[in-house]
Amino acid sequence: MKILNLIKNLSLADCPLCHETAEKNGLCRACWADILTLQETRPVCPVCAEPNAGGEVCGACLKNPPQFDVLYAVFRYQQPLITLLQHWKYHAALPYSGTIAALIKLVVPKLPPSSSFDSVLAVPPSSQRLIEHGFDHTAVLGKSMAQALNIPLISPKKIHRQHRVPQASLNRKQRMSNLKNSFSVHGNVADKHILLIDDVATTGSTLNELSGCLKKNGAKAVSAVVLSRRYKD
Ligand SMILES: [Zn+2]
Ligand SMILES: [Zn+2]
Repeated sequence: MKILNLIKNLSLADCPLCHETAEKNGLCRACWADILTLQETRPVCPVCAEPNAGGEVCGACLKNPPQFDVLYAVFRYQQPLITLLQHWKYHAALPYSGTIAALIKLVVPKLPPSSSFDSVLAVPPSSQRLIEHGFDHTAVLGKSMAQALNIPLISPKKIHRQHRVPQASLNRKQRMSNLKNSFSVHGNVADKHILLIDDVATTGSTLNELSGCLKKNGAKAVSAVVLSRRYKD
């Protein structure tokens, strides 16, 4: 019986979030419909994508401009997206691959034309994280995005990330110092406009640190895109 349940759970014909019949992009219609975009109803800072009433550049970005030039965040960080991303990252890649590819297709029209960018780079995990999770989820995002935009992908092997304490356990200030000098670049990024991609940004400190590192290595611009941005409220 247990084996039958396992097979049922792994069946690609089922929505992996609720086990109703999957009909749309690997999910059932109801789960897919519940993944909402941030939409224009919620004005955000055009630099860091934090919500603010007027949609102007926020005080934090004016005072301390981030190392990336702009951050695009597309979907609302709420259920069922939270569970989908966590299951995809930590448990099972396969049942969600179609859904992730479908989400990337929805992200592309929110970005400037692909000719704006020279290369895509996925934020790499440290090798220890990779061993722990057994799956480099950001590499999948990078590959899908590079294919969707039809521009080159920088191999994750070109970026080395030192293992540090997981960011999730730290506050904003600790996150910044924890990441300091954690990335090094081993490829040529000189004069390139790079599109960085990650699944979720919380404070943006990982994207900020890696963007700074790319610029120190000569990148002319760094834009960043995340499927979802976590907000304080
Ligand atoms: Zn469902
Ligand atoms: Zn801002």
